[in-house]
Amino acid sequence: MNQSHISFEFFPPQTSEGMEKLGLARKQLATLNPEFFSVTFGAGGSTRDRTLETVKAIKAEGFDAAPHLSCVGSTRENISAILRTYRDAGIRRIVALRGDLPSGMATAGEFQYANELVEFIRKETGDHFHLEVAAYPEVHPQARSAKDDLHNFKKKIDAGANSAITQYFYNADSYFHFVDECEKLGVTAPIVPGIMPIVRYSQLARFSDACGAEIPRWMRKTLEGFGDDSESVQAFGLDAVASLCEKLLAGGAPGLHFYTLNQAKPSIAILERLK
Ligand code: FAD
Repeated sequence: MNQSHISFEFFPPQTSEGMEKLGLARKQLATLNPEFFSVTFGAGGSTRDRTLETVKAIKAEGFDAAPHLSCVGSTRENISAILRTYRDAGIRRIVALRGDLPSGMATAGEFQYANELVEFIRKETGDHFHLEVAAYPEVHPQARSAKDDLHNFKKKIDAGANSAITQYFYNADSYFHFVDECEKLGVTAPIVPGIMPIVRYSQLARFSDACGAEIPRWMRKTLEGFGDDSESVQAFGLDAVASLCEKLLAGGAPGLHFYTLNQAKPSIAILERLK
């Protein structure tokens, strides 16, 4: 496996203790020589400063840092200012997203969809940034149909995105089908599968309900059956996710992007299996 196509995603910690812990996790993950570390961004700009602080720390350690940038609830002026800050900080890669407005936040801002953000970034900054966008092999929960979602994904590539990272999934066929459908539409940009290690079932079930990622019934039933036995949950999760990654890479996936939830061990365990 070409290790240069591994990437790890973090969320920006809220406390200095969290920052310190993330620094340690990064040190462990850095030994795997990732292509970049990405840092999420709270829609509406709620984590703006912490995302910036975290990407600066990553850059200072000599790694490529990719801040996520979500446009929902933002104005062009806001986004322009953020782009300038990232440019000044030496950032060359951005994960460009629509985001989801937190409930209670009414204003939709000046951008409706991520393709508009991609277009805006290209207009403002030319080719300075490598732009990643999100893809949904199991279909975005708000999409009217799979076909619509696919065409909406293509709009982001046509607007100038260089590559994509998928929402996590546990069914390899959904990824291969999505990639095939993209190829039929002439999309040749790399589509890197997003991988969610399984650490705690209750947390995974909550995330999956929210983002529309399916946990197949056989996995759900098995995980539920373990109850509080976290060792069994993790052992089963490691087998299942490592085997998913093997299938994806054997089938031609260009790399793997790990949703680490700021923990190094689960991703490292999977990658060690893949050796
Ligand atoms: P879009 O591509 O705009 O799609 C959103 C919906 O609108 C889809 O149903 C699509 O079919 C439809 N659509 C898109 N374009 C059009 C159009 N032109 N006309 C009509 N319909 C359209 N969220 C965060 O808040 N912060 C993060 O840091 C973050 N990081 C993420 C990283 C990855 C890799 C992924 C997969 C998701 C991430 N998310 C993050 C979640 C993401 O913001 C949500 O999934 C959000 O609901 C959609 O964002 P998007 O960029 O995919 O939106």
